[in-house]
Amino acid sequence: MSSLEGSVAVVTGAGRGLGRAIAEELASGGARVVVNYSRSKEPAEELVEKLAERGHEAIAMQADVSDKEQASRLIGDVLERFGRLDILVNNAGINIDKTMKKLEMEEWDKVVQVDLNSCYYTVKAALPHFMEQSSGKIINISSFVGQMGNFGQANYAAAKAGIIGFTKTAALELARYNVTVNAICPGFVQTDMLAGVPENVVNERILPRIPLGRVGTPQEIGKAVRYLVVDGDYITGQTLNINGGIYM
Ligand code: NAP
Repeated sequence: MSSLEGSVAVVTGAGRGLGRAIAEELASGGARVVVNYSRSKEPAEELVEKLAERGHEAIAMQADVSDKEQASRLIGDVLERFGRLDILVNNAGINIDKTMKKLEMEEWDKVVQVDLNSCYYTVKAALPHFMEQSSGKIINISSFVGQMGNFGQANYAAAKAGIIGFTKTAALELARYNVTVNAICPGFVQTDMLAGVPENVVNERILPRIPLGRVGTPQEIGKAVRYLVVDGDYITGQTLNINGGIYM
């Protein structure tokens, strides 16, 4: 895709955090952006307004993408509204961090449902359209934790590792339709997810592990998504690490 102009993008969980930065980056390039949210209605609507003030077309759409019917409805509503879909960014994610000794079965299921199964639900719903259109870009937000594991994150690590396997398989199956599928593995990025970690843990236990000596910004992830979409026509099935060197 040489330009974002006129394209339609869906970013799941785009009211805040990485999703918000990704939505802003795609909109600034000229994409019409669907800002999906689950609970963050106000932030999502505020983002849509902010983008409109800058002359960008965006719309907020509520859907809990961990629910297969809602995920499917989201994609259906996008197609009904815009008549096309070019870019699907599966960004929605949660974490419930506990050692396995303390982790409840429901907490395992919940994280896998939101972080991994949702990716399948949206892709499955968008598949017929992408195949018919013979073009499309799918980007799944995984994590370095899916590559290296992390103490107290068995559920999250499993879901994020699953995204990488899913991405490669989807890339193989969709290549014949000119649809690329890639994963991004961020390292620690400054969002609400990281804000839940106590400051002393960030300073004493996290920062010393990052060769570049700082956490990433949501904008750095947004730019990578734009790169994969605009300049990545020959990139598929890949995992792009944006992590300050914490995992090589
Ligand atoms: P965040 O600030 O906690 O935001 C999470 C986002 O996911 C919110 O927009 C939330 O929307 C959305 N979401 C959660 N459950 C959802 C559902 N069922 N349906 C739709 N949206 C849902 O987290 P973040 O740091 O931006 O994380 C974004 C993605 O990056 C996640 O997949 C995360 O695992 C990944 N990641 C983050 C980091 C990091 O250090 N921050 C590192 C590696 C990977 P609502 O508020 O509307 O519920």
